[in-house]
Amino acid sequence: MARILIVEDNAMNLDMLSRRLARRGHTILTAGDGRSGIDTARAEQPELILMDLSLPEIDGWEATRRLKADAATAAIPVIALTAHAMDGDREKAVEAGCDDYATKPIDLPALLAKIAALVPGDGTDAGH
Ligand code: MN
Repeated sequence: MARILIVEDNAMNLDMLSRRLARRGHTILTAGDGRSGIDTARAEQPELILMDLSLPEIDGWEATRRLKADAATAAIPVIALTAHAMDGDREKAVEAGCDDYATKPIDLPALLAKIAALVPGDGTDAGH
């Protein structure tokens, strides 16, 4: 189980993903834009961040760059979430410092496996 910060501006997507991950035992923190995502990451030190890329205030790429440039948050793994399955998006996310990438609609078992791979001692068996 992990403490996960979800940064997502679409309230319906945020609510749905929060509930699905909470049901699997994860503790969920949320933010609705890039700026509050950065602030919440610094204050709460989540074990992992799920970062929507298309966000108001500061987009997900820039928010990730800032998190990775700050010693206080650089070690927190970031999984980018995007509706665009284009190859260029994945490259841009990796360049910004994202550790992994998931496309919407979210494939929950695949996302759980990515989370488990990035959070040591997560203890989640993604297959169950
Ligand atoms: Mn968005």
